[in-house]
Amino acid sequence: MRDDHRTALASFITQRMELGETEWSVGPASRAAFECFVDGDPVPQASSSDGPHDVSPQQQKPPQVAETTTACDVGQFTMQDLASRDTLDTLRETVCGCTRCALGETRKNFVFGEGDPGAGILFIGEAPGAEEDTQGRPFVGRAGKLLTQMIEGMKLARGDVYIGNILKCRPPNNRDPKPGEIAACEPILLRQIELIKPAVICALGRISGQTLLRKTGTLGSLRGTIHDYHGVKLIVTYHPAALLRNSNWKPDAWEDLKLVRREFDGMEL
Ligand code: URA
Repeated sequence: MRDDHRTALASFITQRMELGETEWSVGPASRAAFECFVDGDPVPQASSSDGPHDVSPQQQKPPQVAETTTACDVGQFTMQDLASRDTLDTLRETVCGCTRCALGETRKNFVFGEGDPGAGILFIGEAPGAEEDTQGRPFVGRAGKLLTQMIEGMKLARGDVYIGNILKCRPPNNRDPKPGEIAACEPILLRQIELIKPAVICALGRISGQTLLRKTGTLGSLRGTIHDYHGVKLIVTYHPAALLRNSNWKPDAWEDLKLVRREFDGMEL
């Protein structure tokens, strides 16, 4: 077997086992149910800018000039500071110079999040990847382009929802977030949720779901259920970077997105 085929097979098996599966067959994916977000998609490969778990430095684009211009308060902030900020803009100014963990030393840009400040749906990923770190915006690499297509498949525009991450700074080489980094960053996310007041949170990927829900289960065990996160409905689905690696998961992801839309405003897709 060729080395690249061996690597692809090992990756496929690891991903299925992560989902708690011990048996599987490889067949053509049913594209019908989810064609709105795979239309014309030739099952692209994830790239190094797709965030956690997709590291391939050879493919990285040269850094671009960061777009963020927000003035940032310098130094530490207290939980009272967070609680007293009553808009996303003032919250961003308070936290975007954050040095509460070591990622503040290595990031290019703080990635606060973006979208409608009163959105009914909040998507939460894991952490910025290379492209997000460069631009200071969430989900702008290849995984982000697929996320935008997924949102459009839900008959919404990207600007209708809010998109953020658990960590606001890129972990070096897209490694998994460390518990101390999550503990330092989650208060910002909680204040964002209090201000946005979404009807539904959609956690993107196993790490996002496990971290928010404080559960250790497989992605397969976390999805398909409506959880509660600080009083808000939370639905877990595949990370778009995982869908770029394996399009066989797209029908299940589409079922999750339909559930998100139904819980948001009752619309049946
Ligand atoms: N992956 C994530 O989890 N978040 C991003 O913003 C980009 C990729």
